[in-house]
Amino acid sequence: MASTLPPSSAGGQGRTSASGDLRAALQRILDGRQAQIRDKVRWWLSQPGNAPRPDLPIDEHRAQVLAWARELCREGDTAIGFPPEYGGEGDIDKYVASFETLAFGDLSLLVKCGVQFGLFGGAILHLGTDEHHRRHLPGVVSLDLPGCFAMTERGHGSNVQALRTTATYEPETDEIVVHTPDDDARKDYIGNAARDGRMAAVFAQLVVGGEERGVHAVLVPIRDENGDPCPGVRIEDCGPKLGLDGVDNGRLWFDHVRVPRGNLLDRYAQIRDDGTYFSPIENPTRRFFTMLGTLIMGRVSVCGAAINATKVAQTIAVRHALARRQFGPPGSDEEAPLIRYRTHQRRLLPDLATTYALHFAQDELRGRLHAVFGQDEPPDRERRELETLAAGLKAVATWHATKTIQECREACGGAGYLRVNRFAALKADTDVFTTFEGDNTVLLQLCAKNLLTDYRDQFGELDPLGTAAFFGRQVYETVAERSAIRELLGRLADDLVPGRESEEDLLERDTQLELYRWREQHMTSGAARRLKAGIDAGREPFEVLLETQDHVVGVARTHVERVVLEAFAAAVERCPDERPKALLGRLCDLYALAGIERDRGWFQEHGRLSSTRSKAVIKTVNQLCEALSADAGLLADAFGVPEAVLGEAARRP
Ligand SMILES: Cc1cc2nc3c(=O)[nH]c(=O)nc-3n(C[C@H](O)[C@H](O)[C@H](O)COP(=O)(O)OP(=O)(O)OC[C@H]3O[C@@H](n4cnc5c(N)ncnc54)[C@H](O)[C@@H]3O)c2cc1C
Repeated sequence: MASTLPPSSAGGQGRTSASGDLRAALQRILDGRQAQIRDKVRWWLSQPGNAPRPDLPIDEHRAQVLAWARELCREGDTAIGFPPEYGGEGDIDKYVASFETLAFGDLSLLVKCGVQFGLFGGAILHLGTDEHHRRHLPGVVSLDLPGCFAMTERGHGSNVQALRTTATYEPETDEIVVHTPDDDARKDYIGNAARDGRMAAVFAQLVVGGEERGVHAVLVPIRDENGDPCPGVRIEDCGPKLGLDGVDNGRLWFDHVRVPRGNLLDRYAQIRDDGTYFSPIENPTRRFFTMLGTLIMGRVSVCGAAINATKVAQTIAVRHALARRQFGPPGSDEEAPLIRYRTHQRRLLPDLATTYALHFAQDELRGRLHAVFGQDEPPDRERRELETLAAGLKAVATWHATKTIQECREACGGAGYLRVNRFAALKADTDVFTTFEGDNTVLLQLCAKNLLTDYRDQFGELDPLGTAAFFGRQVYETVAERSAIRELLGRLADDLVPGRESEEDLLERDTQLELYRWREQHMTSGAARRLKAGIDAGREPFEVLLETQDHVVGVARTHVERVVLEAFAAAVERCPDERPKALLGRLCDLYALAGIERDRGWFQEHGRLSSTRSKAVIKTVNQLCEALSADAGLLADAFGVPEAVLGEAARRP
């Protein structure tokens, strides 16, 4: 079977100039159109004093993070996403690429910047109008106006529509009165609130003319020039957290705090001079989701940051695996490097392939974000596709980070446990990525909801001829499934005979893609059928959803895995040079087949994988791991994580 794999591209683990060229070529491919800004951030992280400092007490850490953030402001990198009139470049793609790269360093700095420039600044930019921009963006961009994004409440996190803080318009004074009705409605976990924030974009139920208008954002000053809380505002520190010690998360209460009407961020809904409410989007739910949709940049940014934090862990673990020797053949003086062990290859390499795959998918997502935000009125369909992918990819990438960083820590043994080797911070700081910017399980449901809506629309909009074709496809698939099962049953006896089935097509990209596409399609149509059957039977929609929830989440997962494989496959195809193309192609095989291996029970249950082929998948994954272990060092080095942010365990072999 090894003969079906091309020979190792770098010629082993030695760092020859050929492998150096290949590493550089891979880094160019990974950095892509944003190589310049990524290099600039790498340069900044490599300057003395800018690498993470694992030993700082909380107060000093917070002060250090603010000082670093101010320095980045002076560099101009934090303004890139803002319009040129506010010192930026209006370049979302570049801004997010810069943010992602910052994730190689101290993640408290990353999150502090995310809160200030992405969330607080983003709310003003996307929910506000020219007057808000003129008044506040210069202070946001320069960090003279540190701010918060105050959405979550103690009682409601994922269910934002049910927030309970009120913002009541008072015509007599032309003011909005912001109020926390009880402790469950206090703002909680709010970044920048405990120490530095001066103003907050507060998400509250807007009441105009005695009528509730749904959740809107209002700018509320929370501290005065001296740093003391403004009248009516109570602020509390959230206290020690699992990680992100350098971020000052806090709680906010508002006791009938008055702000001018102009503080309503009113791009999508206004209180007019005559005190009446107006929104061009009449449907309140649609209005709410349109407003939330504009804040998607934070989600895309966290997704990219998770991928890059994972690269740090993988660089350390791969280098350690190449340098560290344990045990060896009996009678030999030489112990074997960890990377020689199959278990070690299996622990590191499929995850490494996944990080590459996610990187290319994130690259596409970032490009789409830039394209959608570049339009004044992006079509609903484009918006929704972006929202679907951002929700799904963020969930998959942040879970990948949590799992992989832990695996890398263990792969470094005791060395991985020392703070100096970065895993303590990487684990603790990335952990919450699965929760903020949308809880992952909730996000997968959002992703699936959109996919199922598209599926329904596709069905509903088909003309008679198209409908026939649609049903034809369904019938074809049912027949194909049945014949696959028959074929499988017929071949059970064959499985006892080794080598009767060819394994080579498992390395065909089309075979891999077909399996991923078929699984997604089958999951989606199955979930749609179950939901429809429940509704048709007159059952409560909520009960029907509860019963099918695991299936629905599976729709999103299989969708994201298919999209990620396609992004990786496309990146391989785009490769201009043969050697990186061959190596990336093999890595893509590993991503695809490791995913099929993980889900081989499902593929077998559905007649898409005989037991012979299922075993062949395992064997091929092993062979790919073995073959790619020779190139593991250059594959990890191609991430371009600056030496300054890597610990001792990453010392070069
Ligand atoms: C360090 C940190 C920083 C933060 N910074 C900010 C900030 O600056 N501004 C801000 O506004 N917020 C911030 N947050 C809040 C964060 O966005 C919320 O914690 C997040 O949205 C989840 O809400 P929750 O904590 O209420 O969890 P919940 O929504 O209560 O979820 C709890 C669990 O229930 C599950 N669950 C919930 N609903 C469902 C469902 N329908 N189906 C199945 N399972 C479900 C979830 O998967 C999760 O596992 C921060 C949080 C942290 C920890």
